[in-house]
Amino acid sequence: MTESVDRQGRVALITGASRGIGAAIAETLRDSGYRVAGFARSDAAPAGVLGVACDITDPQAVDAGFATVEAELGPVEVLVANAGITRDTLLMRMSDDDWQQVVDINLTGAYRVVRRATRGMVRQRFGRIVAISSVVALLGSAGQVNYASTKAGLIGMMRSVARELGGRGVTANVVTPGFIQTEMTEVLDEATRKAYAERIPVGRMGTAADVANAVRYLVSDEAGYVTGAVVPVDGGLGMGN
Ligand code: NDP
Repeated sequence: MTESVDRQGRVALITGASRGIGAAIAETLRDSGYRVAGFARSDAAPAGVLGVACDITDPQAVDAGFATVEAELGPVEVLVANAGITRDTLLMRMSDDDWQQVVDINLTGAYRVVRRATRGMVRQRFGRIVAISSVVALLGSAGQVNYASTKAGLIGMMRSVARELGGRGVTANVVTPGFIQTEMTEVLDEATRKAYAERIPVGRMGTAADVANAVRYLVSDEAGYVTGAVVPVDGGLGMGN
């Protein structure tokens, strides 16, 4: 029997699926035939996506959220750790709270959902994990010491998972988006956006769909030999790093 490349109906869970990049990933996978669930602090999710209210800083909520997804859709085969926040300010002004909140959501939150998802993946001998990092993980970014640290941490996390679980059919990869048009970047003023766009070789900001298309490949059945990769979706902004 020949197996189809993207087996219809695999279960995918996306954190931070209520808007922005996470919503685009959820829609793209839904449209490719996956059964998709999304976590966010509210249960908002795109049409056709099971929205589960789950704050990923709360270990019990994560466990309960997975239990809901497993009961409604089945074991999670694809996990996209996408939820993230910024609390930007220069290092000398950064409070411990600015640091801790970003670490709790972006890094510890990702660790929690990855750890929980791998249980079922190992049992099924199939899993696809993608963490949404950022171009600043490797470039560094003034005013984002907290954020860039978490985004670099995700690379170490995914590469370690890739080594631990590669033999069990589980891949773990990282996508590093550049400057993508979402609510997270809407807060930036016009001059800053223009200055960024000038530094991007393709000459424009990215869209959430640009990121979702790369994720779609990495989570597909056909990407089984791609693991521990850091895939830039940044219009060339981070080239050479
Ligand atoms: P948005 O701010 O638009 O969306 C963030 C998502 O994360 C929302 O769905 C939000 O839902 C969810 N979220 C935040 N906190 C929690 C929490 N504690 N528990 C569960 N869900 C949470 O961000 P983007 O779409 O722009 O970014 C998505 C990812 O891509 C982030 O990791 C970001 O760092 C990364 N990225 C973004 C870039 C950009 O230019 N936009 C560039 C590079 C990387 P809710 O608030 O309802 O909980």
